[in-house]
Amino acid sequence: MIHGTYAHPQEFWNTGARLDEYGVNAVFVHSGGLDPTTINRARSEGCLIFAEFATLNGEYGDYVYQHPEAHPIGADGNPVPKATWFLGACPTDPGFRAYRMQALRDLLAVADIDGVWMDYLHWHAQFEDPYPLFVKTCFNDCCLRSFEQWSGLKVEGQTVPEKSQWIFMHAARPWEDWRVSVIVDWAREIRQIVKELRPQALVGNYQVAWKDEDLGGVRRRCMGLDFNGLLPYVDVFSPMIYHGRSGKTPEYVKEYVEYFSEHYPIQTEPGKYPRLWPIVQAHDEPRISPEEFGRVLEYGLAGKSTGVMMFTLGSVAADSGKMAAMKRVYLGK
Ligand SMILES: [Zn+2]
Repeated sequence: MIHGTYAHPQEFWNTGARLDEYGVNAVFVHSGGLDPTTINRARSEGCLIFAEFATLNGEYGDYVYQHPEAHPIGADGNPVPKATWFLGACPTDPGFRAYRMQALRDLLAVADIDGVWMDYLHWHAQFEDPYPLFVKTCFNDCCLRSFEQWSGLKVEGQTVPEKSQWIFMHAARPWEDWRVSVIVDWAREIRQIVKELRPQALVGNYQVAWKDEDLGGVRRRCMGLDFNGLLPYVDVFSPMIYHGRSGKTPEYVKEYVEYFSEHYPIQTEPGKYPRLWPIVQAHDEPRISPEEFGRVLEYGLAGKSTGVMMFTLGSVAADSGKMAAMKRVYLGK
């Protein structure tokens, strides 16, 4: 069982605690926070170390601001605004893709890690806020060209608004399938790089915790996220089941974990993949009581799940009640 934490452990360490005293055996840390001191200390406290890798986050590294050609283009032909705090990137822009893949190679070359967790592996959208935002992108030249090549269709119209309208009216399904293929191909190359440089390392995916049919299938249709398509390239699926943020009850965590366990070929035997390690909410937005946090942590281990972690370890460290709840669940007492 993976008893994980998400976020740099510094705030936890500031309380004077050790990770192994709390039963933590895996830390998931943003790739930028993985310096040798952090890695060595987490290892000395008995932990596996996994890097969160900001995949299609256009703001990470200020990329789209310095390279506006990678800013996603909306159906009206204009660069899309941020979806509250998130801005995606054009996933077919060759410069952006090369930049991100090189960042992954650089990370794997220096950091002694046990795996890489893809984050923001989806088209520009906002699903982490209580009121999600969906935007249809991307209609820049490289995306339109890629869609035509992939589908064999000739998109009609002169302007981007005309072309996007033609797609929605005449080729919505192939367009959605093409968008899935673009995301799957990112996962394919990321896996190839990870296995080339660190063959033992796992490839995980942080993903929206929506069922296939939720909101009219918008997870696949708008975000381009098809878990069957990702199956060959993902060792561990980590749905972000933030019940409080999304207006659900704590029990929904259990329901979703069981749903995912039934709908996808999740493995539980040692050495068998893919596995299911959800991430649950500790963060007080809205307020999550220690009792509630302890429950969702336990629910995260329901079904065929063989691991769990929380967003974030800092939120746990800030609340002695949550520290006690984590210790109780992870040490089983
Ligand atoms: Zn594009």
